[in-house]
Amino acid sequence: MLLVAAILPLHSADEKHIVIYAPGTTFSLPVTDREGREYVGLLECVEPLGTVSARIDSQHWKLRYDDGEADFTAGKNRAKVRGRDTDFPGNFLLENSRGLVPLVSLGTLLPRILNSPVSFNPLSRRLFVGNVATHFTAQLNRTTPPRLIMNFTAPVNPTIATEPGRLRMSFTREPLVAPGTPTLTFDDKTIPSATYIENNGVAEISVSGSAPLMASFSNEGRTITVAPVPQQPAAPGPSVPSAQNPPGATPAPGPPKVTPINAPHYYAVIDPAHGGDDRGVALSDSLAEKDVTLSIARRLRQEFESRGIPTLVLRDSDLSLSLDDRATQTNTARPTVYVSLHAASDGKGVRLYTSLLPSGVENNGPFVAWDTAQTRFLPMSRATAQNVAAEFQKRQLPVRNLQAPLRPLNNLTTAAIAVEIAPNSGDVTELTLAGYQQNVASGIATAISAMHNQLGGSQ
Ligand SMILES: [Zn+2]
Repeated sequence: MLLVAAILPLHSADEKHIVIYAPGTTFSLPVTDREGREYVGLLECVEPLGTVSARIDSQHWKLRYDDGEADFTAGKNRAKVRGRDTDFPGNFLLENSRGLVPLVSLGTLLPRILNSPVSFNPLSRRLFVGNVATHFTAQLNRTTPPRLIMNFTAPVNPTIATEPGRLRMSFTREPLVAPGTPTLTFDDKTIPSATYIENNGVAEISVSGSAPLMASFSNEGRTITVAPVPQQPAAPGPSVPSAQNPPGATPAPGPPKVTPINAPHYYAVIDPAHGGDDRGVALSDSLAEKDVTLSIARRLRQEFESRGIPTLVLRDSDLSLSLDDRATQTNTARPTVYVSLHAASDGKGVRLYTSLLPSGVENNGPFVAWDTAQTRFLPMSRATAQNVAAEFQKRQLPVRNLQAPLRPLNNLTTAAIAVEIAPNSGDVTELTLAGYQQNVASGIATAISAMHNQLGGSQ
């Protein structure tokens, strides 16, 4: 079981939302059904954008936005906005002093209330205030292997998920807009096409592939390169593309950075989640998550050490450790990679998590904000998760790559992933089987040791 921090993802996938993109802010609001239509709270739509107040005068609901007023009447489909009568489809609703308008009316109402151009796609529930669009281009470089280079007009930070046959990038915070044609075809066997779709406030680019694909970021988040996951070299070599130097980018001058693998410090930190009074989730009547995570952690340490990777396990007994303790101990050890281990009874196979950081917070200057310490390391964390995912795919173990605002991941100054292990068979006792635990541990260790040159040595 993973503890999700107080900041929640922008929205959960299964609830209806509208996302509003405006200069300097992006926010998401719930959409509810009334009278067979979709409705949204009007005050909430404009509150983040200016100086706003609302008051009720019998059946009238009066909204003041900056210097303009809008006057709505409960049960009516006409309002007076900045002195002009404005008709809209569906009726205005007043519920517990809250003014609700039909979702489709936002395209008519908001330009007048805000006195600003608005572009609205009611089908995908995405609304743009002013000129905030991020555009992108996609081009296939016919190298061997091929590389799909996507350039964006502003930095992007999508959630990346891989599944057999495709890599999906979901943009929840970025005002990404559709390319000229929604499906781009490349006449290539390995990467045949990419498709843009948007739905429920999310824009998604889906890249199809006949081989497992991975994405790397460069150009300060303005370029994403999608390429097949490289086959592992027979011996560690500098051939693994790195997030800093993605395929297609000009490599940094100088020889590749190679650090002796027997560096005199801990290269990897393993964090068996829970422990002591915190038992984690009860996987069955007799099986606690804290015992499964410890058992897998010991196997993972053995797998790392057999590959010459010095490893620190944060707890090697049934010890209680706070999330702050775990983060502080890890950052003090200055490892190159951190792996948190969780176990779950629901789902199938392995879920890999990397950090999802609050947007708009920059780590500039000498001090690193605790809640966003992970920012600079996120590209390496993602590359690590993608390599581990590719290794599990090779082992026919179902795997999903996810991002969540998780502690202590957000607080770590190293490449950091959380691995949540569920049974593959659906039978929770599989989590205690030596063979299953060993397969998971060896998969993580194989993928991470193959990335040694990419991750670099000591910090
Ligand atoms: Zn857990």
